[in-house]
Amino acid sequence: MRPESERARALRRSEIRVLFDAALRHPGAIRLEVGEPSFTTPDHVIDAAMNAARAGFTKYGPNGGLVSLRELLAAKIAKVDGFEVDPDQVVVTPGGMNALSSTFMALIDPGDEVLIPTPGFPNMDQMVSLFGGVPVFYPLSADNGFLPDLAMLEKAVTAKTHLLFINTPSNPTGAVFPSGLMEGLADLCQRHDLWLLSDEVYDELILDEGIGHTAAGRFDTDGRVVTVYSFSKVYAMTGWRVGYAVAPAGVASTLRKLQEPLVSCPSTVSQKAAEAALTGPRRPFDEMLEAYRRRRLAAVAASSAAGLTVVRPQGTLYMLLDVSSWARPSLDFALSLLEHQGVSVAPGSVFGPAGEGWVRISLAAEDAEIVEGIERIAAHLRQGS
Ligand code: PMP
Repeated sequence: MRPESERARALRRSEIRVLFDAALRHPGAIRLEVGEPSFTTPDHVIDAAMNAARAGFTKYGPNGGLVSLRELLAAKIAKVDGFEVDPDQVVVTPGGMNALSSTFMALIDPGDEVLIPTPGFPNMDQMVSLFGGVPVFYPLSADNGFLPDLAMLEKAVTAKTHLLFINTPSNPTGAVFPSGLMEGLADLCQRHDLWLLSDEVYDELILDEGIGHTAAGRFDTDGRVVTVYSFSKVYAMTGWRVGYAVAPAGVASTLRKLQEPLVSCPSTVSQKAAEAALTGPRRPFDEMLEAYRRRRLAAVAASSAAGLTVVRPQGTLYMLLDVSSWARPSLDFALSLLEHQGVSVAPGSVFGPAGEGWVRISLAAEDAEIVEGIERIAAHLRQGS
């Protein structure tokens, strides 16, 4: 018998999982590697899901999601993300992850090059490779606030480039793209005839007062932009698995078609929960955002006090810390930190080649744990490798 497929065998195991598993062997460890909100789904959302299940929302639904949810999402996109879409352009998926993979599957042919940021959201390169595409990393630099450099991107485009992937607010850097940059990125895609896939799953997690999220969809003048959103982090609903893609009508129709052989449809009861998150009280979500904002301030202050270099995140629930003074790779630092200081962080190598020299901590832990964790990271760096 032939072994597993080449594609499956080529897939690497995420180093974040290595840390995750190692942390389980240190029961008292401070867990700063996770991306799981520290809050549970608000009660009104859970109640709505229970009522919906009793009312019969326990069956298959349409491939692209319930019309009632898609109508609410079109209104949310107009209000929060600032552009108008028809509900038929919204395709609800099992999590943002499936919206991303379905979009790659819909748009990429073998050999197509896809531009991907580093440090950037893990696994995007693997996703592209799974569908026969060729991932090409473009580096983001701390000196530039981890924002893409238009001139550099311009040089990275080749005759084979087919799609530009961007992420704002960004995991792991916390960077939030200003609107001028977004306009420039849309313009670049137009001039080079590229698709623009914009991962905006943290659109409502803006930590800085006075700045806003800029959606790529606002600058789509000729139907080349796909944006991806999710209920996971903004609404503390990771396990419900509800995300959605917003796409030009033709692409949205292809995405719906792809759902049939892949997943059939997103969970019906979870979609009713998502509806409640959109229509119910905002207060629980505002309180979570306030907590992330407070923790971000505490984390930045603790890092400066401990002499660590950080790039202050403007959005998301993550922060990168500079550990480049450690003589060995970031995975080695993360494992050694766990072993000696009982603190678990995500090694920068997870975030692509330009992630080396950094570790990511999460603002999903409690305030005191974050501060204690940062102090131990600084102490470990001082002791040296
Ligand atoms: N994009 C980014 C940047 C993320 O950080 C995540 C979650 N970690 C996702 C997409 C996917 O999230 P989900 O599938 O839970 O919606």
